[in-house]
Amino acid sequence: METNQSALVLHSGGQDSTTCLFWALKKFKEVRTLCISYGQRHAQEVAIAQKIAKNADVPFQVSDAGIISLLSDNSLTNHNLVMDREKPENSYPNTFVPGRNLFFLTIAAVIARSHGIKNIIIGVSQADYSGYPDCRDTFIHSANTTLNLAMDEQFIIHTPLMWLSKAETWALADELGVFDIVKNDTLTCYNGVAAEGCGHCPACKLRNDGLMEYLNKAKK
Ligand code: ZN
Repeated sequence: METNQSALVLHSGGQDSTTCLFWALKKFKEVRTLCISYGQRHAQEVAIAQKIAKNADVPFQVSDAGIISLLSDNSLTNHNLVMDREKPENSYPNTFVPGRNLFFLTIAAVIARSHGIKNIIIGVSQADYSGYPDCRDTFIHSANTTLNLAMDEQFIIHTPLMWLSKAETWALADELGVFDIVKNDTLTCYNGVAAEGCGHCPACKLRNDGLMEYLNKAKK
């Protein structure tokens, strides 16, 4: 098989990366998933990602990157820190894990290379409510160039959700025929409640507002 027919999906078990997994399954012949464990609050997201990968019949791999949680104080890995509900002015909420997507993409590229895979898929979106810098299109292009130079490779980083709102991401899941899987089997909530979540953390608010918007539009 040609290497450009295969893809590695960074998969956390959440709405976005699960939608990306099924997007990849439509686009590439061979797909594998990589879940990165970094001491995040909801450690069960690894188990959820594994279950989704198993149900989708794709290889699952988990890589430990616990060092990420030791390098900075953020509320996703420091369970004693009270999570910011809103984005502070001129700053990022403490759910921002500095450097996370650069770590993730680097680990993904090294693993992709070892499997002869050129395509890497990450579910970042510039429409993300906090405007995390490592979710922006400019960063992804820069990281792609850097990883290619670092390993003398021709990786292509795909970001199918980059310009989509949360409602549009729900629409994409529906188009891909996996609306119920995304709605019922994923974990997006910062408090570790699967499916519809706790309902009041920023991740739940974003997910549920997007779902309502989509359902109203689609009149489902
Ligand atoms: Zn929640």
